[in-house]
Amino acid sequence: MVGAILTQQTSWGNVEKAIANLKGAGLMGLGQISSCSERKLAGLIRPSGYYRQKAKRLRGICRGIAAAYGTLEGMFRLERGELRRALLGMKGIGNETADSIILYAAEKPIFVIDAYTERVMKRLSGRESAIGYTELQAYFTRNMAEDLDRYKEAHAQFVELGKRYCRPVPLCGGCPLRKWCAYPKAARAARTAHLDDAKG
Ligand code: SF4
Repeated sequence: MVGAILTQQTSWGNVEKAIANLKGAGLMGLGQISSCSERKLAGLIRPSGYYRQKAKRLRGICRGIAAAYGTLEGMFRLERGELRRALLGMKGIGNETADSIILYAAEKPIFVIDAYTERVMKRLSGRESAIGYTELQAYFTRNMAEDLDRYKEAHAQFVELGKRYCRPVPLCGGCPLRKWCAYPKAARAARTAHLDDAKG
């Protein structure tokens, strides 16, 4: 859960360093984080970037959970929809962070949409405009059986695909989705049109 909050606007490698610092200082529990000073917390999570803002939010979230539910387990006993609403009501938690917490920490099936998933799906579908979080999530929920492990696996596969092939400049050559993807076809058509123009 700490990872899901700290990973906003930074890479996971930086988050791992921040988490190692927190663990080293014995500060990975709700109570410990709630009672730690913001200054100390900020120093420990510095590798994750935006550390002052994140320290304030992390401590605020932990305090809020402790006050409302006593323990994390207490909050995770909420039904999935209620849990999502409760998380989204906390400052610093948006859709992706809430769903990551629900899927990985609370272990309830919900499809997480991240920047990799959005990029792949946009190119795959050939859509020019952005696809909203809710629309994309609803697409997967409609088309995949609800299953905790499959949702985790699908999320991990999108991350891997986005890192290996569907990068900002895509490496379509070896991509396993190439056959179904609109992007390389559109790129090929644009190249052909460009050559025709040059000849004409
Ligand atoms: S074929 Fe290219 S654009 Fe399509 S998903 Fe693969 S890497 Fe991305």
